[in-house]
Amino acid sequence: MSTICLHNKQFKSHISDETIDAAILNVANLINQDYKNKKPLFLGILNGSFLFVADLLRKIDLECEISFLKISSYSGTSTTGEVKELVGLNEDISGRDLIILEDIVDTGLTIDSIFKSLSGKGANSIEVATLLFKPNAYQMQYPIKYKALEVGNEFLVGYGLDYDGLGRNLKNIYIINED
Ligand code: 5GP
Ligand code: MG
Repeated sequence: MSTICLHNKQFKSHISDETIDAAILNVANLINQDYKNKKPLFLGILNGSFLFVADLLRKIDLECEISFLKISSYSGTSTTGEVKELVGLNEDISGRDLIILEDIVDTGLTIDSIFKSLSGKGANSIEVATLLFKPNAYQMQYPIKYKALEVGNEFLVGYGLDYDGLGRNLKNIYIINED
């Protein structure tokens, strides 16, 4: 089992790139079925979603558009509770079928604030596809429609997820080593 060190914290390999790829294919297949004859607008939430967006969208065979939004709510290994503003929405979303793409949904505070920012702008539908979902941490009522992988509450890095800026480029997902 491979172990890595980021900012003097140890992380061990937890989810392989093959597992990630198969889970993303499942989500892509569902979206390809559910949005047949529609033209969804995918909204990737930066920075964490960049690899998920790239790998998912190459498996989507719909006519579609892709844009990116930025929000930041996290520092270190615990959630700060404060959620900042959504920036970068230049498209007219009225009448559009939006699919928000997230790296991870934890408490759901971030996704809730994204919903609030996007609702009232006339979108035809708004759904979420997340690479990782923490069911034991999620506090919101809104159902997350597409969840590639469910994980525990431990802190993860890799495949877009960072620990204070490091680790986003790792192709596997690593879990913090508390031993
Ligand atoms: P939420 O608002 O749902 O509690 O948290 C969402 C955000 O917290 C994610 O977009 C991500 O930036 C960060 N986050 C939550 N859990 C983890 C984790 O295990 N690892 C990393 N690197 N970030 C996380
Ligand atoms: Mg994020």
